Amino acid sequence: MDNFVFQNPTKIIFGKAMETRVGEEVSKYSKKILLHYGGGSIKKTGLYDRVISSLKAAGIEFIELPGVKPNPRLSLVREGIKICRENNIDFILAVGGGSVIDSAKAIALGVVYDGDVWDFYTGKASPKAALPIGTILTIPAAGSESSTGSVITNEDGWYKRSAGSTLLYPKFSILNPELAFTLPKYQVACGAADILAHLMERYFTNTQSVELIDRMIESTMKTVIKYVPMVLEDSNNYEAWAQVMWAGTLAHNNLLNTGRVGDWGSHDIEHEISGIYDVAHGAGLAVVFPAWMKYVYKHDPNRFVQFAVRVWNVEQDFFDPEKTILQGIQKLEEFFTSIGLPTRLEGLGITDDRLEEMADKGTDSDQKTLGNFVKLRKNDIYNILKLAQK
Ligand code: NAP
Ligand code: FE
Repeated sequence: MDNFVFQNPTKIIFGKAMETRVGEEVSKYSKKILLHYGGGSIKKTGLYDRVISSLKAAGIEFIELPGVKPNPRLSLVREGIKICRENNIDFILAVGGGSVIDSAKAIALGVVYDGDVWDFYTGKASPKAALPIGTILTIPAAGSESSTGSVITNEDGWYKRSAGSTLLYPKFSILNPELAFTLPKYQVACGAADILAHLMERYFTNTQSVELIDRMIESTMKTVIKYVPMVLEDSNNYEAWAQVMWAGTLAHNNLLNTGRVGDWGSHDIEHEISGIYDVAHGAGLAVVFPAWMKYVYKHDPNRFVQFAVRVWNVEQDFFDPEKTILQGIQKLEEFFTSIGLPTRLEGLGITDDRLEEMADKGTDSDQKTLGNFVKLRKNDIYNILKLAQK
C-alpha cells in the first residue's frame, strides 16, 4: 500500500427533504451568492421553488446564472466569473448534476485568479485559491459533489479538460435521493456507467497489497449493479435510489483510492469523445471501458480474473484465465446493454473516422501518455478506439 493523506472536508447532508436546509447552510458562508443551474429541470420538478424559499428565509441575496449544458462550456464559466466580480459575490450554490457543479467550481477558481481560468485546465497554472461552493445534487453520476475535479469544455477547439485541487471540495453537498425520481432513464444509465467507471479506474492499479480497498470497491460496484436496474424499473424507489446516490459519492470522494494509484486512461479517452461529439460522458465510458479492458488485460491477468470472479460472479476457469477474463468483460458489456447504453462508437452515433484526431488531441501529438495501469501512447489510444468500433 502506498503512503497517503486522506481528508475529504465536504459535509454531506443526506436524506428526504434535506434541500430545505440549504439557506441555513449557505448562511454560514455568505449573504450574497451566485445560484447556478442547468437547462431547467429544477424548475419543472419544483426544486427551484424550494431552494428559493429556503434562501429567502435565511436572508440570502442571490443572482441567478442558469443555462449550464451537459459537458459544461467555458463561455458560461467566463460569464459567471464576470457576474461574481461585478456583484462582489463570494459563494456559489450549484443545483444540478456534475455539469452544473463542475461549472460552479470553474467559476470559483476564475473569480480569484488574475489570469485566464482555462490556465487551470491546460496545466499552465495550479489553483492557489477558490471561492467556496455548495451543491444540491440532482443526479447520482459524476461524484463532483464531493470531488476535487472539474471538467470543462472549451468551445475553441472543443477541448474537454479537467482541473483538480483540494480547494474544489464543496463545503457542503445536499443529497436527497427523492430528487432523482424525475431523471430520464437514459440519464440514470449514463450516471450508473460513470459511477462504475470511477470505481474501475481505481480498481485497475499496479499498487500491491490493496485487499481492503479492492473489497470496498467491489462491494460498491455490486451495489450499483444490483440497484440501478431497480430504479430503472421503479423510478420512485427511494431506498434503491439511496443506495445508488451514496454509491456515486463514495465512488469518487477519494476514499477508494487511498493507498493506491488509479488508472484514468478511459476517462481521458472519453473526454476526447464527448469533447468533439458532445455525447453524455457516461455513455462514452460504456463504449471506451470495455475496449480499454480488451486492450490492456494481459498487463495483469490476475487482476482481471479477480474482477470477473468477484464482481460478475464468473466461474473461474483455472486452466484458461483468458476465458474467465473475457467473460468478465462480456458481463460488463451485457450490463451496459441491459440498462440501455451503447458499447460501441456506432451506438453513440459516431460513424465518421476521427479516431486518429482524438488519439492525437488526447496525447498532445504523442507528447504525453494517458493512464497509469498501462501508459498509453497515441497509437494505443487509436487501437482502443478501433476496438470500440468493432
Ligand atoms: P449532467 O450533465 O449534470 O446532467 C445531465 C442531464 O440530466 C441534464 O440534461 C440535466 O438537465 C438532467 N438532469 C439532472 N438532474 C435531473 C433530475 N433530477 N431530473 C431530470 N433531469 C435531470 O450529468 P452528470 O452525469 O452529473 O455530469 C456530467 C459531467 O460531469 C460531464 O461533463 C463529465 O465529464 C463530468 N464529470 C465530472 C467529474 C468530477 O469529478 N468533477 C467526474 C466525472 C464526470 P438540466 O440541465 O435541465 O438540469
Ligand atoms: Fe466520470
